[in-house]
Amino acid sequence: MPAFTNPTDIARETLKMLAARRMAPNPENYQAIYNEIAGIPPSTARQAKDDKLPPKSGGGGEANWAELIRELIRQWDLKQSGVTASRKKEGLGRVLSNFAKDPALLHVKLQALVGSWGEKVAQAGVPVEGIEPDENAQNSPVAAMAASVVNVEISLADVPAALREMLALTIQTGVAPRLSQFPDLRDEAILLAQQARDARDSLGLQGVAKKLKQFWIKLELRNDSDAQVLDGLVRLLRLLVNNISELLLDDKWLTGQIAVVQDIISQPLDSRVLYDAERSFKEVIFKQGNLKHSLMEARTTIKNMMSAFIDRMSEMSASTGEYHSKVESYAAAISKTEDINQLNQILGDLMKDTRGMQLDMIRSRDELQQAHKQVKEAEEKIRLLEAELDQFSELVHEDHLTGTLNRRGMEDAFGRELSRADRLKSPMSVSLLDIDHFKRLNDTYGHDAGDEALVHLVRVTREALRPTDVIARFGGEEFVIILPDTGIDEAVKVMTRVQRHLTKNFFMHDNQRLLITFSAGVALRNAGESAESMISRADKALYQAKEAGRNRVIPAG
Ligand code: GH3
Ligand code: MG
Ligand code: MG
Repeated sequence: MPAFTNPTDIARETLKMLAARRMAPNPENYQAIYNEIAGIPPSTARQAKDDKLPPKSGGGGEANWAELIRELIRQWDLKQSGVTASRKKEGLGRVLSNFAKDPALLHVKLQALVGSWGEKVAQAGVPVEGIEPDENAQNSPVAAMAASVVNVEISLADVPAALREMLALTIQTGVAPRLSQFPDLRDEAILLAQQARDARDSLGLQGVAKKLKQFWIKLELRNDSDAQVLDGLVRLLRLLVNNISELLLDDKWLTGQIAVVQDIISQPLDSRVLYDAERSFKEVIFKQGNLKHSLMEARTTIKNMMSAFIDRMSEMSASTGEYHSKVESYAAAISKTEDINQLNQILGDLMKDTRGMQLDMIRSRDELQQAHKQVKEAEEKIRLLEAELDQFSELVHEDHLTGTLNRRGMEDAFGRELSRADRLKSPMSVSLLDIDHFKRLNDTYGHDAGDEALVHLVRVTREALRPTDVIARFGGEEFVIILPDTGIDEAVKVMTRVQRHLTKNFFMHDNQRLLITFSAGVALRNAGESAESMISRADKALYQAKEAGRNRVIPAG
């Protein structure tokens, strides 16, 4: 009983057999093998006997058996996935017991069995009759496909199936994984692979071909839009890179590196170019990271420096309220900002103000120093003038306004006159005079007029005195007159004469005649009496003269 009754199966087996026997795929051989498999008596199939292609060494039948046995042994020893040794043994036993009576059919069946072992490799993942799928074979479909093409001899009969499988594997492993971005297309590819595998007749294959064509069209359209997206991305990348260079600081290294990246991506893109660009970019990113870090460090340092500076400033300017509040506002601004440019701005403003403050401080310090210098100079001048004045008083015992003796000159004169009077035992009188209502004159005509009046009085008095009489300014508008060799009467006479003379000589001020009078006390020296004592007694007499109505001379008692 033939193993195949379906013409399609017989046709498939025929092709396999042709390939396995290395027979030329001509109509005669096809017919012979077809009949053989279909169980049609050999008489009708004998036509294939003269065919040259099957090797005839030792006769057709024997040659075929030898070939088959050699192939069987080879496949027996080969390790096919999913076909264990026991399974081979079992399959062989079954075929032997089923077809032992018909050597031709046995040959065919054995050939089919052996072919199926080899086929298992080619159809990895697809269950073969009598052979269970091996899980391992699905781990690497690409490797399995490669093995089926490279390692396994494919019989001609197996070609359509192998081609279908190759197509399925190509779609499944070569196309689908590359469509991960487009799940719909990927699913369609997987489905197509399955359909290619399942297509058992030309109709089925036509259907697969039609669907494949639609699939390629969709794929092409999608690729077009992919290319557009890629173009857009590359343009964007170039734009980005070109603009990064403007964002960079004046770092020569980074600028150079960016130029490298620009150069790289200006070439047509392939994976190598992209890899180079990525590597250069990583360098840029690393360097930028470093720069950012050092920038942050610099900013922190500047902030700390500025804070310290401001603390110092506020200590310095604690007394000057205006700067103190300004400096405090800067300190607050600095602690708030994180922006280095803003820090620079604050620093600039601060420096400006500080310079202003410095200028102010320098100015006031200069002014202070100047004032101090002036004070010192003035003190020095005063000291010098005082010294000069002292020296002058020492040398000139005169009153600078009236030209009479001053107090020191008077004392000298007393010293001389007293010792002379003592030595000569001669009388000596002293008069003390004081101008009447002199304050009034000062108040009415001014201090200068008072000074001129003093000068006028001294000049007129001198005219009325004797040459030996000595006149000295005792203080203010009071004068002492020493009258040597003069008794009290004579002294009163002299002083009264001076009075009269003064009433005759008006003091002229602004063409006005002003009468000046004075009151005087006169004291005669007692034996051995001192100048102070005589003046004191004369002063008392003067007081009496004032009391008596002024413009008079009174002798002391
Ligand atoms: P009395 O008749 O009581 O002496 O009245 P008086 O105004 O003279 O009173 P008193 O002696 O108390 O005042 C003296 C005044 O003389 C005070 C002062 O203004 C003035 N005097 C003193 N020395 C000078 C001077 O050198 N020049 C001028 N211009 N006035 C002087
Ligand atoms: Mg007086
Ligand atoms: Mg007076």
